[in-house]
Amino acid sequence: MKKELILFTGILIVTLALFAISKSTIFVESNLCVGCGDCVKVCPVDAIEIIDGKAVIDADVCIDCEICIKTCTYNAIRKNK
Ligand code: SF4
Ligand code: SF4
Repeated sequence: MKKELILFTGILIVTLALFAISKSTIFVESNLCVGCGDCVKVCPVDAIEIIDGKAVIDADVCIDCEICIKTCTYNAIRKNK
């Protein structure tokens, strides 16, 4: 019983650690982005900024809500599956 508990705790710790270090999979296809800024306006956590006329997503800030994907009429924002 003790062995199972140790194993379960280990698996839980590894899972939580992987979750903690995982980064957003949302990214901008910069060749499609026209720099309109619509995605910047809707991002709830201010993870997007326009740099040199293109949207750039800060993966450390992004919470993967996908609002920007639905907002971009140029289909310039994608998600790695
Ligand atoms: S909404 Fe789309 S086209 Fe406009 S800045 Fe964002 S990614 Fe670029
Ligand atoms: S997925 Fe959500 S949090 Fe991430 S950049 Fe887009 S709007 Fe912002």
